[in-house]
Amino acid sequence: MSALPGAPQLARRAAGLCLEAVPLEALARVHGTPLYVYSRGAMLQALAAYQQPLADRRHLICYAMKANSTLAVLQLFARAGCGFDIVSAGELERVLAAGGDPAKTVFSGVGKQRAEMRRALEVGVKCFNVESESELRTLSAVATEMGRSAPVSLRINPDVDARTHPYISTGLKDNKFGIAHGHALQAYREAAGLPGLEVVGIDCHIGSQITEIGPYLDALDRLLDLVEALEVEGIAIRHLDVGGGLGITYTDEQPPAAGDLVARLLERIDARGHGARELLFEPGRSLVGNAGVLLTQVLVCKTGADKNFCIVDAAMNDLVRPAMYGAYMAIVPCGAQSSAPARLWDVVGPVCESGDWLGRARELAVQEGDVLAVLSAGAYAMSMASNYNSRPRAAEVLVDGSEAVVIRERETTMALFAHERLLPG
Ligand SMILES: *Cc1c(COP(=O)(O)O)cnc(C)c1O
Repeated sequence: MSALPGAPQLARRAAGLCLEAVPLEALARVHGTPLYVYSRGAMLQALAAYQQPLADRRHLICYAMKANSTLAVLQLFARAGCGFDIVSAGELERVLAAGGDPAKTVFSGVGKQRAEMRRALEVGVKCFNVESESELRTLSAVATEMGRSAPVSLRINPDVDARTHPYISTGLKDNKFGIAHGHALQAYREAAGLPGLEVVGIDCHIGSQITEIGPYLDALDRLLDLVEALEVEGIAIRHLDVGGGLGITYTDEQPPAAGDLVARLLERIDARGHGARELLFEPGRSLVGNAGVLLTQVLVCKTGADKNFCIVDAAMNDLVRPAMYGAYMAIVPCGAQSSAPARLWDVVGPVCESGDWLGRARELAVQEGDVLAVLSAGAYAMSMASNYNSRPRAAEVLVDGSEAVVIRERETTMALFAHERLLPG
């Protein structure tokens, strides 16, 4: 395992750990901790890895913004030509607030509400990724009431195993997501016959943190089989959306490069004679995950007979992946060097839950007051943050070369209960 797994813009220099040209320990002292820090360069580089092999094709990268939905991050991607994959009306409002284009936005999710459908129709999203036959009927009714036609793509559950964590695997037939492959023809026939719908595409998304190309090719073949069968019936499919899910490096995973994944998919698409179709991708984690770190300060070092606890000021409310998925995230010191001896530590937060840990049995030379960085924290980190234990959410900073700008202020304690009401009398 390398010391800094998966972090393209992180390096150890004389000033300690730096993201691009910004020393992280100094940044923590200025802005306080816990602090999320992202590299602009790393995000744009990750996006370009998808865009480049698609340059001479009709395509759209729809960033799955649930991975990190901070406005400035969306703005960065929107300016680079990116579209968005949203799962709620709240996310749609974020796209609009960040200057994103609704016509480049696809709306996914198993439980869309009528008000959300109306708002998406009003602003003109590119399409609805429909996940059930019931949703087809509701959407048709909502669109008809508005005198509109809703562009739809059916999310097909191809029943392939993405060979990832069960909580983030979505393409098996016993998952809640999508329309079963065996039901797809029937669902498309129904969609084609409903008055408020216009069939425009087909999509799938088989899971997250996928580290092999095979499952993508299997899913693609299943989609193309359907496209061919649909076109025989006169139902035209304009775009093909292969979803997101490409993994990143947290420790020693070696996921394929985005460029290689795209190239292999294009090869298969061309071989089957579908090269002229518009192609959509919905990457989330792989655009932002390795671009960010979470900085945290050591509050208490508690040594014991069996275990040593390094209690830090970031907790499961700031970063829930370890508690929720048992996820491994690398943790490294930010300072130039420490005089403390190296020991094995469980790195834990101050929240009153034994599940509140960030790393277990980590060899670290740390002492109280040191600043640590949790790596690969750009995805499913801040966007999953909560206020458990009445902890305000962290601030976020974006670095670009030697510049650092605050893109989210630290939440205030007053803001935590601003919408609550005391009982009368
Ligand atoms: C979450 C999600 C994605 C992105 O997944 P990543 O693993 O972050 O790339 C893409 N499409 C849909 C429908 C999703 O729900």
